Amino acid sequence: MIPKLLLVLPCYNEEAILHITNTKLNDFCDSLISRGLISNESRICYVNDGSRDATWDIIEALAATNPRVLGVKLSRNFGHQNALLAGLFEYKGLFDCYISIDADLQDDLNAIIPMLEKYREGASVVYGVRDDRSSDTFFKKFTAETFYKMMLWLKVPVIFNHADFRLIDNRVLTELENYREVNMFIRGIIPTIGLKSEKVFYKRLEREAGETKYPLKKMLTFAWNGVTSFSVMPMRFVLWFGAFSFVLSAILAIYVLYTKFAGVTTAGWTSTLLMMAFFNGSNMLAIGLIGEYIGKIYEEVKARPRYIVEKSSPVRD
Ligand code: UDP
Ligand code: MG
Repeated sequence: MIPKLLLVLPCYNEEAILHITNTKLNDFCDSLISRGLISNESRICYVNDGSRDATWDIIEALAATNPRVLGVKLSRNFGHQNALLAGLFEYKGLFDCYISIDADLQDDLNAIIPMLEKYREGASVVYGVRDDRSSDTFFKKFTAETFYKMMLWLKVPVIFNHADFRLIDNRVLTELENYREVNMFIRGIIPTIGLKSEKVFYKRLEREAGETKYPLKKMLTFAWNGVTSFSVMPMRFVLWFGAFSFVLSAILAIYVLYTKFAGVTTAGWTSTLLMMAFFNGSNMLAIGLIGEYIGKIYEEVKARPRYIVEKSSPVRD
């Protein structure tokens, strides 16, 4: 069966590039359709994420003249991740597979062909992975790669150098809806869903028009959100640090007592130092312990699904 594909593109102040993007995407879809890779009921969906420029007017005009184009308008700027989710959930169940891609087409469209191929071979998720960042500035490459390394070190289940260019099937989209957290860090969630996944490698291209909508501040907020929605490691560091300073205070106590009995201290020094070391250590330890419990509460509050059944046998009589 030829799959019905939905392409979802979040757009924030993208008036400079939207026409270029749309022409390219339509030509690309035409070629996919003529090669029998996607059905001609496939669609392109632009999600306007509260842009302050003419982005929505352009999307509306495109949708009015081209039945292949769908537009979703958010009431304000909700951020890239939420815009993506809005586009996906708006058309849930109506398509066989969904590909999310940035509006600037920095992700190579040609990677979609192997993505569809892996989907046909049974993959529910196909990650687009950038294996060549030569077009990125040193700064972007460095910050992005440090981000992935740090995430992996903190045990956040991201795929190295995979952003939000991916194919998911309708099954994954249904499961994604069961993740009830408000701060959805999509590229961390998808790998936790499981099911059969594949990777496709591509070269990241340059932005053709307009500028990045991810300045350093947004990147840092994004990274921090990723860490705190997946990892209790920062809190665990406090616990380790507490345990360490507790041990240190015990060693200090031995030293202080030794100097006292050796008679080389001034009056009051011993008791002050002992108290300080002991209470600092135990405070830190207690904060770390409380942190562990808050971490548990936090896991519960997110109410993620406990498990996902891929298949099961039907009951027969
Ligand atoms: N974007 C969005 N909302 C935002 C910021 C960005 O929908 O608040 C979209 C943006 O229009 C683009 C995608 O997210 O389609 C990625 O942004 P960009 O290309 O500027 O990021 P970069 O490639 O520089 O990391
Ligand atoms: Mg970009």
